[in-house]
Amino acid sequence: MGVSAGPACPVCGEAGVPILYGLPTPAAMRAASAGRVRLAGCVITPDHDQWACPANHEWRTGDDAQLSAAISAAISD
Ligand SMILES: [Zn+2]
Repeated sequence: MGVSAGPACPVCGEAGVPILYGLPTPAAMRAASAGRVRLAGCVITPDHDQWACPANHEWRTGDDAQLSAAISAAISD
């Protein structure tokens, strides 16, 4: 699908997928079903996590450009 891997999890080293906050669009829900993004709730704290790995570790990198690119790639099928 041409989706580049997210940053490696700082705990286990698996590739992370972007965490999407707020009400998901149909495209976002399809991406979540395919495991390309993780859906979170609507409450966003100032230091909310940005990435999640298959083992459910969550973390943030502070790289908003990388995050935006990964989200766009994940939901643009
Ligand atoms: Zn992990």
